[in-house]
Amino acid sequence: MATTPQISAAVLAKYEPVIGLEVHVQLLTVSKIFCSCSTRFGDPPNTNVCPVCLGLPGALPVLNRKAVEFAVLASMAIGCRVNEASIFARKNYFYPDLPKGYQISQYDKPLAEFGMIEVPSREGTKKIGITRLHLEEDAGKSLHDGFPDSADSTAIDLNRTGVPLIEIVSEPDIASPDEAYEYLTRLKEIILYTGVSDCNMEEGSLRCDANVSVRPRGQKEFGTKTEVKNVNSFRFIREALEYEIERHISVIESGGKITQETRLYNSNEGKTYGMRSKEQAHDYRYFPEPDLLPLVVDEKWRGEIRKTLPELPEARRKRVVADYGITAKDAEVLTSSKALADQFEEAAKAAKNPKRVANLVQSELAGRLKAKNLEIEQSPISMKGVAMSADLVESGTISGKMLKDLYDLSFERGKDFPIVYEEEGRPQQSTDSSALEKIIDELIAANPKQVEQYRAGKKTVLGFFVGQVMKASKGQASPQIVNELLSKKLD
Ligand SMILES: [Zn+2]
Repeated sequence: MATTPQISAAVLAKYEPVIGLEVHVQLLTVSKIFCSCSTRFGDPPNTNVCPVCLGLPGALPVLNRKAVEFAVLASMAIGCRVNEASIFARKNYFYPDLPKGYQISQYDKPLAEFGMIEVPSREGTKKIGITRLHLEEDAGKSLHDGFPDSADSTAIDLNRTGVPLIEIVSEPDIASPDEAYEYLTRLKEIILYTGVSDCNMEEGSLRCDANVSVRPRGQKEFGTKTEVKNVNSFRFIREALEYEIERHISVIESGGKITQETRLYNSNEGKTYGMRSKEQAHDYRYFPEPDLLPLVVDEKWRGEIRKTLPELPEARRKRVVADYGITAKDAEVLTSSKALADQFEEAAKAAKNPKRVANLVQSELAGRLKAKNLEIEQSPISMKGVAMSADLVESGTISGKMLKDLYDLSFERGKDFPIVYEEEGRPQQSTDSSALEKIIDELIAANPKQVEQYRAGKKTVLGFFVGQVMKASKGQASPQIVNELLSKKLD
């Protein structure tokens, strides 16, 4: 949790936070944005470099077509208008991991604008505007530790220099750390559905900077903002924002002024620290990149890319609810990734009762996964396995109790349901009626009062007898057969 200055709820309520997010997403191209060097993560330092990405004199950039297509696809997925022509620009700054002394980005004519993402909020859903999506190259990486001389030197790895990024800038529409968290979760989910990035935060494929300010409720003008940079999880972003908002309010309440600056979040302490004064756009001396033509994405090309746009999470959620008669909550879990949603739909189409497949995921799979700290994608039981087990219960071949036991074995052995079912000798629930009849006869003899109630018209007593028979058979009996036999004997 963020450690924050002590401010009363009443004081907090006087202010309204204003948050805007800048998200950098690395595109999954094989080669870099302006040269043919590999983008592979984890290669030995400075092995994927060439005169272009090292910025050597005379080297010229050539734009990667695939990077453009991925960026356009992502733009369409977040509802942006893709501009027919956009311009690359040089963003000039000096930094050790930037060998050219400038970054090729886009400035006043970005690739795409005017998008929107819907997030769940207290009022139902809320639309968060997206100002722009633009293409740019990544910088290299400074390595501050892990070397014998790390105490007094910084090492540079330029493998990442020139890797294609999209930067997605939101409108300052986000009004709380929770909304910021939701926005990021939805954005990541959409990008993952398009397949243009793996959004792996540990490897830096998705990075987020947050701009935050506060203003007295009802005031139109924005307060002075600070930027929190390079936070490496959505949870930490939420914590950093909580901390910053309270810090801003306590500074203002005590008569101070917020300094416009860039701050870093220390997740161990739950605090942010000032890093440097925030640059203004004019500090970068942007000008059009003279070595690249304007990027033209004409209607024909846009049309071709649009055809590859998959069904997006929100739409898919609504459809699977309608198609398979499952709940919105089930749909939320089952469509959390495209791969899982594909698997679920395949299983649900093949299963006798799709609803039972969804129920089993929630009732039997979710708890076991949580206990083992596994994501649903890491489940030993595949969606095909869930579908098979659902069918076995549906047809009365196995009981619910037997299914639970088989699921336990699957998790113990780390094997899928069909394999464990085979290993256990394809068990079936007992339909041996002579053994069941014996149990029932004994129960009827032992419970004359309940028998009398039943015969007097209190049919609900049947449930008592079913429960007793199931218990006596250790869950192996088929409830259907137990019901039939009991009705026959009691009536
Ligand atoms: Zn290169």
